[in-house]
Amino acid sequence: MTTAYIGMGANLGDREAALRKAVAMLDACDDIRVAAVSDLVESAPLGPSGQPAYLNIAVCIETRLDAEALLQEMQAVESSMGRVRSEHWGPRTIDLDLLLFGDEIIDCDELTVPHAQMHLRSFVLRPMCQIAGDAMHPVLKRSMNELAARLNGGDFYLSNERPQLISVAGVIGVGKTTLARGLAEAFDCEMVAEAYDTNPYMAEVYAGRKDLALDSQLYFLHSRVRQLQQGALEAGRPVVTDYVFDKEMIYATRTLDAAQLSAYEQEHAAVADLVVRPVVVVYMKDSAASCLKRIGLRNRPYEKQIDLATLEGFAADYEQLFTGWRESPVIQVDVSGFNCMDWREVISLAEEVRQYIWTSPHV
Ligand code: ATP
Ligand code: CA
Ligand code: CA
Repeated sequence: MTTAYIGMGANLGDREAALRKAVAMLDACDDIRVAAVSDLVESAPLGPSGQPAYLNIAVCIETRLDAEALLQEMQAVESSMGRVRSEHWGPRTIDLDLLLFGDEIIDCDELTVPHAQMHLRSFVLRPMCQIAGDAMHPVLKRSMNELAARLNGGDFYLSNERPQLISVAGVIGVGKTTLARGLAEAFDCEMVAEAYDTNPYMAEVYAGRKDLALDSQLYFLHSRVRQLQQGALEAGRPVVTDYVFDKEMIYATRTLDAAQLSAYEQEHAAVADLVVRPVVVVYMKDSAASCLKRIGLRNRPYEKQIDLATLEGFAADYEQLFTGWRESPVIQVDVSGFNCMDWREVISLAEEVRQYIWTSPHV
């Protein structure tokens, strides 16, 4: 017997009745026993716009069938309920997707298990968390609860029409640049680094020249916009940055006085829409004490002013930024348990990140 999970969705007619009927039909198969059914979760459709909302559930079954035979039973349920296959992601009376089949990894023409996009879909993971929060995704090696937390309730899909921007985020000294370099090497792609060294105002601002703080902040703003504007990055190609554009407002709010901030906000509002948004964020976290230690080791003279309280303030800002972040999945990396100097660890994180970006099927 194998424990398997099936995701179901319906967005036409009496959606709840359709879901109940599909569950009953599966349970009526000789070789399938329904063990658990989640509550209903409503979601906005991913595909062609103008469709009605979906109702989704996750179902746990026990089965003697192999995965291919189970898929056939599932498709028989879809057909007998009048499912017509027309446009991709178009409206349907019922859709049955095989999410997990034991811990099997299957990749053939008709069947990919785990379902190829389940880790990007809260409408799959939320009902899964209700009935199997601890179940492991055998490729990502993460539980449903962990995968769901990365999405913050959002639904995402991979598209080669956007640059595959991977942004590494976190406070000063957490190790963003090192990790970003490692990821870029793993993906054999460009790493776009924050223009730290060329900012002509930074050293003086750290040395106490508050009147230059606005110039320094605007220098960063315009440099980031140059790096990330549409056209600077190629659609369908991975690229890694060692910052997330949204840190701009965090730093401006913490370092500028009221008059400077209001001038800054105007500039920011004028350019913020120009930048490419990340497809996935890698959010690095470590204690303020460890970050301070790293800052001490790299010994940049102007960073000598940074103290624990400053770092804790930034850490709180980042927490707030990523609580409720809906623009992309966020992969948290606890740096106390991760060594970005260790190539094997970087490769294994890169493999995980790869599941969240579009990559050419021929590579
Ligand atoms: P999505 O798979 O992105 O949710 P969809 O459910 O709308 O899209 P369908 O038209 O229902 O896509 O299925 C397209 C094909 O996907 C099916 O013919 C089936 O062979 C194949 N397929 C591959 N893996 C699975 C899986 N794990 N579960 C169900 N179908 C799968
Ligand atoms: Ca589907
Ligand atoms: Ca399907």
